[in-house]
Amino acid sequence: MAQSSIEWTEMTWNPTTGCTKISAGCKFCYAEVMTKRLQAMGLEKYADGFAVRTHPDALSLPYSWKKPKVVFVNSMSDLFHPEVPLAFIQQVFEVMNNNPQHIFQVLTKRAELLYQYSNKLRWTDNIWMGVSVENEKVMDRIDFLKGTGAKIKFLSCEPLIGPLPNLDLTGLQWVIVGGESGQGNIRSMKEEWVIDIKNHCQQQDVAFFFKQWGGKNKKAAGRELQGEIFSQMPILM
Ligand code: SF4
Repeated sequence: MAQSSIEWTEMTWNPTTGCTKISAGCKFCYAEVMTKRLQAMGLEKYADGFAVRTHPDALSLPYSWKKPKVVFVNSMSDLFHPEVPLAFIQQVFEVMNNNPQHIFQVLTKRAELLYQYSNKLRWTDNIWMGVSVENEKVMDRIDFLKGTGAKIKFLSCEPLIGPLPNLDLTGLQWVIVGGESGQGNIRSMKEEWVIDIKNHCQQQDVAFFFKQWGGKNKKAAGRELQGEIFSQMPILM
């Protein structure tokens, strides 16, 4: 486990590591960059670099956390990557099922596989399930998410690199929006795209979290939208 600087969580837990790029949102994958650093530092967990690996020894960790935590599951991977066996995903779910004192936030881009596995998983209230939606091309992920048994469903629209027209948030509880950041050839996010998503959330009583504008200096760009900070979480709604 590790404390996290991500604004919408407290800490991370990585029972799997590694991934492969699947869509435009992966272009500047944070997990890939971090993996290279951790591998260079000699961390055993990252000895195989960004290859997909399961870590059964990580499964006991949530039982040892004394206080209730909000946990981002797999910041360094995608739990629903096709190379992760269903049996291992079921083990991860069993740990989450057995630890209702913690909230587990699971985020995937493999929404179709998530949908296919959904009936084989136990969806306790403490599991928040999200899909990443960076542009219009991958909006079908939202329908796959809606078809799962998750009690709390959310979207992570980060990095938002295009508008999300005709957004239907029926059955969802939370939307996070953020722009791309870094020193490379980053793609900017238009205010009108963010406002459109925020308006949909407000119309449909969905919690809205605006994480950042991003850019080359994300601290300076901040996280104000129309003079306001939006940090809603589903649990508070
Ligand atoms: S799905 Fe996530 S972890 Fe995997 S390559 Fe894309 S951004 Fe990185």
